[in-house]
Amino acid sequence: HGQAGRLYTEEDPLVILSSDTLKQTLFNSSTAWLVQFYSSWCGHCVHYSPTWKALAGDVKDWFQTIRIGVLDCAHEKNFDICKEFGIHFYPTFRYFKAHGTTFDIGKTYRGADREIQTVRQLMVNFLQNHTRQDWPAGYPPLEPARTEDILSAIGLKSDHYTAVIIEDKESYIGREVILDLMPYEGIVVKRALSSEKVLVEKLGITTAPAVYLFYPNGTHAGMDVQKRIRFFFSSFLKLLPGVHRKQAPSIQQPEQTVIKDQSTSERFKEFDKSKVYMVDLESGLHYLLRVELATHKTLEGVELKLFKDFVTVVAKLFPGRQSVVKLLETLLEWLISLPLEKIPYEAILDLTNNKMRISGLHLSERVQWLGCQGSSVALRGYPCSLWTLFHVLTVQAASRTDALANTALEDDPQAVLQTMRQYIGTFFGCRECGKHFEEMAQESMSQVKSLDEAVLWLWRKHNQVNARLAGSMSEDPMFPKTQWPTPDLCPTCHEEQDGLHVWNEDMVLAFLKKHYSAENILPKHTS
Ligand code: FAD
Repeated sequence: HGQAGRLYTEEDPLVILSSDTLKQTLFNSSTAWLVQFYSSWCGHCVHYSPTWKALAGDVKDWFQTIRIGVLDCAHEKNFDICKEFGIHFYPTFRYFKAHGTTFDIGKTYRGADREIQTVRQLMVNFLQNHTRQDWPAGYPPLEPARTEDILSAIGLKSDHYTAVIIEDKESYIGREVILDLMPYEGIVVKRALSSEKVLVEKLGITTAPAVYLFYPNGTHAGMDVQKRIRFFFSSFLKLLPGVHRKQAPSIQQPEQTVIKDQSTSERFKEFDKSKVYMVDLESGLHYLLRVELATHKTLEGVELKLFKDFVTVVAKLFPGRQSVVKLLETLLEWLISLPLEKIPYEAILDLTNNKMRISGLHLSERVQWLGCQGSSVALRGYPCSLWTLFHVLTVQAASRTDALANTALEDDPQAVLQTMRQYIGTFFGCRECGKHFEEMAQESMSQVKSLDEAVLWLWRKHNQVNARLAGSMSEDPMFPKTQWPTPDLCPTCHEEQDGLHVWNEDMVLAFLKKHYSAENILPKHTS
């Protein structure tokens, strides 16, 4: 509970940012920054957190030049800042140059490879993108040194060592070692390219990468390092007699960064697993409409069409409080009446937040989970509410077969599923989830021929996801992923055939229709 559930803590070698501190930290910072905008409900972000911490630890000594930060977009306090920075998916990696302005929202890294080495090399590239005017304060020269400059040092006494890493053009080892040695005194590290014929010949280098050392007393020699890898080079140089660390890495947390844990302020509330709770559904809709979609400045083209379909489906099928249904219907009428090709999302927020409230129509103003509570803040919550919402919608579509009459989605047994597929693929902040879901959809969604089959399809696919995620880091130990419904919820759903467990799908369908029916949804604020 509490602390244990947070993905990052002050003990990690990185800076935890929030809405209070992000801008002031980045504005005119003497160092560059790499910030991961994540969401504590995003399973992929949970899995990735050890890698990010390891990366932060690995480049801790680069702190005078570039720093690593994190910001949790799932924290209510940070909703607005993530919207302002246009964070659509989690995790999003943004680089910020040193000496940035207040308008700088950074540069996004879009690559699929997020392994430590790749990201670290990108950090180096990014540092090299600085110009002389905006160099980070402690920026060492990362460009290759000139042969004349290196050779002119031969025989000269000095108050420090000069190490030269000779390497191929593609190699990053020289730049990494230069950055690793930044907080050390008594040594200057340079790099040179192995293509410099004169230099290589003069120093007698035969293999790259290699380290060549100029001693303070004027002598010089090639070094014999056991393994030609960054760690060996860096530690060899750090351990030279007379080389000392002059500055301890300081990862100072900005003030006010200690975010109050949402879960410690709210005690775990008991709930009944055989029920569905309106507060989860409304919180999910609230998050979807006011937070997730609100990171999009405008909706146009396919996104706008998809948003209309989504609002159609919920307005027509959501078995909610009258004032909420009315709100959704008003939103739908407004969307349909607009002849616009492009809508600024602000207008939608204005409508749902202000205009409608005046007429007494409103949706939950904040996120509150009951059936979707996790045993810590990082678990369950929003994705749980989305699954629940779509199960409810498929069941509603199957029980009120005329609900979508006279809409663009009339007579389409896949209407809810296709809407979900589009939503998950386009807007859902967990990109990985979207990709996985799309693969499942491509495989078999087209085979769904009736509204009942749609209910079962979603159940089957959800169980497939449960099976894949069982035992993973994002699994809540208090709510292990199981094949659902478990025998205690629905004994008749389970049978045995030739000694093997099988589902009785007729029973499963009947159970789903009951479990996700309007009658089984407990109204707000009761448990
Ligand atoms: P959830 O799986 O969210 O389920 C919520 C509730 O639905 C359960 O408590 C139970 O009451 C009920 N339920 C469970 N199984 C079924 C079923 N088969 N049929 C009907 N009802 C059921 N996370 C990842 O880490 N990787 C992914 O690739 C990924 N893909 C996702 C794709 C989608 C479309 C969504 C909505 C979420 C995805 N997630 C993914 C999140 C993940 O599936 C869970 O939502 C999250 O881990 C929270 O789990 P939970 O314990 O609250 O249960």
